[in-house]
Formats: sequence, structure tokens, C-alpha cells
Amino acid sequence: MYIFIMKTTSRNLLGLTKPQLEEFAVSTDLKPYRGRQLFRWMYGHGATKFQDMTDLGKDLRTQLERSARITLPTLVASQWAEDESTVKCLMELQDGHRIEAVWMDEEIRQTLCLSSQAGCALGCTFCATGSIGFGRNLTPDEIIGQLMIVESIVGRRPTNIVFMGMGEPLLNLDNVLPTLPIMTAGDGFAISHRKITLSTCGIIPGIQRLAKENVKCKLAISLNATDQDTRVRLMPIAKKYPLDDLLQAVRAYAHTTRYRVTFEYVLIAGENDRNEDAIKLPKLLKGIPAKINIILLNPTDLPFQPPSSDRVSYFETLLRRHKIHVSFRKSRGSDISAACGQLAGKT
Ligand code: SAH
Ligand code: SF4
Repeated sequence: MYIFIMKTTSRNLLGLTKPQLEEFAVSTDLKPYRGRQLFRWMYGHGATKFQDMTDLGKDLRTQLERSARITLPTLVASQWAEDESTVKCLMELQDGHRIEAVWMDEEIRQTLCLSSQAGCALGCTFCATGSIGFGRNLTPDEIIGQLMIVESIVGRRPTNIVFMGMGEPLLNLDNVLPTLPIMTAGDGFAISHRKITLSTCGIIPGIQRLAKENVKCKLAISLNATDQDTRVRLMPIAKKYPLDDLLQAVRAYAHTTRYRVTFEYVLIAGENDRNEDAIKLPKLLKGIPAKINIILLNPTDLPFQPPSSDRVSYFETLLRRHKIHVSFRKSRGSDISAACGQLAGKT
């Protein structure tokens, strides 16, 4: 007697968009609206088990259990800041890569910082993620999975999403862009486009693609220097995408989209905190509808320090002489190594 063992690989539905879920439904002989129900259950209600989807009917739930699954990354550890305003979540992917997401409660807004890649290939010299090198691109289910895991831990929905965790989102747009309609749909996570920020170290083709495809979320550029030499020293990718070309690309982006762009500037002692930097920065951005976001470097194991508070105040004074909108931010969560650039996927 022969025994045939049929191996079925069930499909992970997490990360599928509404049209993809409708297609899935049709492919399993269901009506398209069943796909829309799955969308609402997973993203609107955070359901991860078909049995919890009460309006699907018992037989259908059992059928779905056989043909599909909803698989999230595995939560390895979560760490709360002393004042409980910040939570860092370490997660493991199916193939063992580790990524992090950070929740920041700032009273008027709750921001979730997501990773777009495991590690990062770009090796910015002051960034902990950069120092571990590149693992791989995250897939839509792994991006949405971070959101679902953090939501289940904090019991709340974020008002804002920033792709400022591990990795460079503009080098993984094929996986990042499909997650946006899931985040913004009213029956999904219901987060408005203008509350989702893609942060880039300056990948020009990515910026051009965002303009061409009319991607409505916000764009932030990690500038971090006011001259090409300093920028190359801090961010080696500037060799490929030089400062002048980058600014020209952002100008074109702003012209096409009519969106204001945020420029992030991480202050690093002795590197980019000179008076001339503060004077030059607003001039550099002339003609671009821009906002400058000054961030104090979070010390990591790398040999860089934030400037003294006197230096920071003077830098701020010089900057504020100009009309440009400037915000100063001391990164939160530094007591649990959960601030920008400190995410390296370690326990
Ligand atoms: N790769 C993208 C997004 C992830 S990095 C980018 O570079 O924009 C997110 C932000 O963290 C960037 O603005 C980066 O300059 C900043 N960052 C990196 N290391 C940091 C550190 N040690 N302290 C403060 N900010 C840091
Ligand atoms: Fe990568 Fe951004 Fe870190 Fe640079 S700052 S190494 S681009 S994650």
C-alpha cells in the first residue's frame, strides 16, 4: 500500500492589498467581497486567526485555515523606557533575521518607527544599523507585521508612521509602496498619507519615483552635512548621489508634488556642528519648501558624540535667524537604545 503525503504550502495573507485579497478569494472559489472582509479583519481589527472572523461562517473559516495563514514575525523581546513613553520591539523573521520597531507616545501623537530592511547596506559612519551591514529587504507582510505586533503590545493604533527604523526604504520601494494603501485605507489602519513619512539618505532614483508615481506620503531627507566632503565622510552613499544633485532632485520633487520636504540633520560634535554649517544650511535649501529637523546624535558604540548643550544652543540661535521652519528634537528612547540610528537587531 502506498501512502501519498500531499504537501500544501498555505498562502500567507498578511501584507496583501485589498485587490490581492479579492484575487485570492476568487482563486479559492469565493466571492471578491470575502477578500474585502479578510482585509478588514486583519488590518482594521488586527485579527490573526480565521476563527476570530465571526462573520465568515464556520465552514469558510475552516476552509481558510486549510488554504491560507496569517503569519507575523516572532516577537523576541520588548523593552519599555522608564517613563513608559517608548517601547522597542525586537522581532525575528522566518529566516532568522532580526529587526526592530519603536513606539513613541508623544501625547498629541503616537508614532511608530518601522524598519524597511534587515540591516542596511549604506554604512553611514554614525549609524548603528549601518555598522551591521545589509541582511535583506523586508517584504510587505514583514512591514505590516511590525505594525500589528506593536499595536497588540501597546493596545493602541499609531497616528503617525515613520520609516526611520532599520534600512533604507527608498532602496526597497517595491515592498514598501504596497503597504501604504493598507495603512491608509479607512477599513485598514486608517492612517492618513500625510502622517506617513519615508526617510531617505538621498537615493535620487527613489525620490524621482515617488514624484512620478505621485506617492502622497511625506518625504524626509537625511542631510546631515552642508558640504559634499563632510557628507561623503558621514554618508558614503553621497559619492554616488552628490549633495548638489540630491538638492536638485528634491527641488524637482517639490515642484512636481507641491509637498514640503523635511530635512533631517543629526548634530555630531566636531563633524557638522560648525557655525558655518548653521549659516549655510538655510541657504542651501533656498527655493525648496522645507522644514529642518535637528536631531541630537544618539551615542552608540561608534566613535561619535553629540555636541555640548552650549554648542547646540548656539547652532540653534544661528539657524533661527532665518525664516525657515526649524524643529529641535532630542531623540526619545535613548535610555533603551530605541532612538534613531541605534537599532541593530540585538537582544
Ligand atoms: N535610511 C534612512 C532611514 C533610516 S535612518 C535614512 O537614512 O534616512 C533614520 C534616521 O536616523 C536618519 O535621519 C539618520 O540620519 C538618523 N540616525 C542614524 N544614526 C543616528 C544616531 N546615532 N543618532 C541620531 N540619529 C541617527
Ligand atoms: Fe542606512 Fe539610514 Fe543608517 Fe545610513 S542612516 S546606514 S542609510 S539606516
